[in-house]
Amino acid sequence: MDNFDVAKIRKDFPELERTVHEKPLIYLDNAASTLKCTPVIEALNLHYSHEAANIHRGVHYLSEMGTVKYEETRKCIQKLINSENDYQVIFTKGTTESLNLIASTYARKFLKKGDQILLSTLEHHSNIVPWQMVAEEVGAEVVEIPVNDLGEIDQDAYKNLLNDRVAIVSTNHISNSLGTINPIKEMIKLAHEAGAIYVVDAAQSISHEKIDVQDLDCDFLAFSSHKMFGPTGVGVLYGKEELLNKMPPYQGGGDMIDVVTFEKTTYNGLPHKFEAGTPHIAGVIALKAAVDYIQSIGLNKIKAWEHELLEYATKKLSEIEGLTIIGTAKEKTSVISFTIDGAHPHDIGTLLDRQGIAVRTGHHCTQPLMKRFNIPATTRASFSVYNTKEEVDALVAGIIKTKEFL
Ligand code: PLP
Repeated sequence: MDNFDVAKIRKDFPELERTVHEKPLIYLDNAASTLKCTPVIEALNLHYSHEAANIHRGVHYLSEMGTVKYEETRKCIQKLINSENDYQVIFTKGTTESLNLIASTYARKFLKKGDQILLSTLEHHSNIVPWQMVAEEVGAEVVEIPVNDLGEIDQDAYKNLLNDRVAIVSTNHISNSLGTINPIKEMIKLAHEAGAIYVVDAAQSISHEKIDVQDLDCDFLAFSSHKMFGPTGVGVLYGKEELLNKMPPYQGGGDMIDVVTFEKTTYNGLPHKFEAGTPHIAGVIALKAAVDYIQSIGLNKIKAWEHELLEYATKKLSEIEGLTIIGTAKEKTSVISFTIDGAHPHDIGTLLDRQGIAVRTGHHCTQPLMKRFNIPATTRASFSVYNTKEEVDALVAGIIKTKEFL
């Protein structure tokens, strides 16, 4: 990409200047969490050094300023995902909490015995376990939508599984383990035709793909700030207004109430009904800095650069003897999972780490997917906007060295 200045972008991520085991850090674990850019670090610093105060219930200067900034992030997320209203954007701790919120409020209240919840084999445990927990409670059934050998959701199987017992379909937009980009717009349409609601786990897609909740027509969408250069401990749940309004609250406590008496408590409106207690104020404020940063580069540019890295890395890694890439979907984002004949991923990860290269090894919180491919684990390299082709070359050299050692 000619007009892409990756060197300039790298300067915005101070952690890239550090060394690990006396080697320059090569950070290829972006699907787990991205590094943080300077505007995010500065926003956190500013809040804690000059502006710390609780929000929503103070009339003093700092409380009011904090409230305005916190609510600005809500508006910013509203624009980012094209939500109809800002109050349909609920702040949570992360994707996991967002999904648990839907399962423990919407699903617990509206699922009936015998209903089905469809989930794909590609799902992260946080998009499996909360549904299993509620299914067990209400007598519903969790049904798996299989994937093909490329790691794509089997669309024919999906269509066949849809029937009038299916109440909820929940899948990721992009798989964290394989990088598969799922055709969620079409899948959502099919779910609606069958009378089911659709939950989108956008943890991996929010910093790689343009998301428009109205165009997708999804019923809920969840993502985490820390996978988009923002702070940990902050996430988002978007929901359709009609659904959010009929859901019971998630947790009880401050902010989510209207009037409390010992006889009866009435609840606040959206979004506060779902935001009990003091939230991660600094984190939410800094999330806006992350979104602004992404938009200052442009999602299209980010996507194009990451795709170039994916293609380059796929070609280079495929040339290594004994290396098998797991997940070769036609539509893929910048994640490469692989195995190497005769080498355990854990050993590969440890030896790469000694060379300053951070990759993730293990089941990536997707044990059913590992089972589908008959493997216990993979090594996963995941690229972000600040990675370079030289880093891919270093990964390839590191793997060859590791292979020789093992
Ligand atoms: N869903 C997917 C696809 C993920 O990749 C992750 C995290 O890796 C999660 C859910 C859980 O996100 P968090 O741990 O931020 O709640």
